[in-house]
Amino acid sequence: MTTPLRLDDVTKTFTTGDTTIAAVDHLDLSVDAGELVIIMGPSGSGKTTLLQLIGALLTPTSGTVTINGQAIAELTRTQIAELRLHQIGFIFQSFNLLEALNAVDNVAAPATLAGTPARQRRQRSRELLDQLGLGHRIEHRPDELSGGEKQRVAIARALINDPALILADEPTASLDAASGYQVLHLLQDIAASTAKTVVIVTHDHRITDAADRLLWLADGVLHDRRADFATATDPVCGMEIITERAAGTRTHHGETMWFCSQVCLHKYDLNPRLWTPDPSSAPPTPPPDLGSEHDADR
Ligand code: ADP
Ligand code: MG
Repeated sequence: MTTPLRLDDVTKTFTTGDTTIAAVDHLDLSVDAGELVIIMGPSGSGKTTLLQLIGALLTPTSGTVTINGQAIAELTRTQIAELRLHQIGFIFQSFNLLEALNAVDNVAAPATLAGTPARQRRQRSRELLDQLGLGHRIEHRPDELSGGEKQRVAIARALINDPALILADEPTASLDAASGYQVLHLLQDIAASTAKTVVIVTHDHRITDAADRLLWLADGVLHDRRADFATATDPVCGMEIITERAAGTRTHHGETMWFCSQVCLHKYDLNPRLWTPDPSSAPPTPPPDLGSEHDADR
């Protein structure tokens, strides 16, 4: 069986002014059919770039991306458009729905491009929305839907042309915890029940247990383990960042905090108490003998 997705020594560099950075740096990856791979990485680690290379939305500077045995570089523009339309479903963090269209027409849009007859595509769109628990929302426009509902519409849209490969860029980042889980379990079900290959890139720690395989991206390089680099959570935006590359640090009651950007640092400085728990409200430290027992529980 052909491997649905393979990257061989893929690099993507961006040049801005005098500086060139490798957003994806000599990266190898092979994903099996039906496998759900989650790639975790802090902000700026190259997640979106990697996913767009896989989805043929970006061309690598060097190296080869192969989808279902076809090297993208060997395809014509038209063939790449066909590949994207039929073999890849892309789910964006911000949903990217068409505001003027209702749910059923949003979902059906890629089927229109694929030339599916109108009745057939509307029926398939309804079925998918039904399966994703949105049967009662098919006539609603995006502005009448919650974040979780919008993301489910976007998932249905990614599935309408029955692609073998589903790619999701931070699909839970704009959602509350409950909707995030729901969306993730849908993706998990899709991978398991239809043997579709799913690749999710995220900095959301809440969702990692759903993965068949968990990988870590840092500075455009993939790692099997997280221990290869130190990270911390920015207390303001909640984003995971590599401590070495933090925009700045602050210390509060002897604990160091790292910030992703000057914006978060500035927000923190304006009102530190907003972002740091009051130590008086923290649970009391257990006595030493209890402490070791608690540790064993974890
Ligand atoms: P992530 O999705 O993990 O936050 P990105 O893939 O968006 O990371 O970005 C990785 C790195 O590449 C960052 O340093 C970012 O600034 C840079 N980058 C991404 N896209 C471009 C672009 N179009 N032009 C210049 N630099 C870019
Ligand atoms: Mg990104």
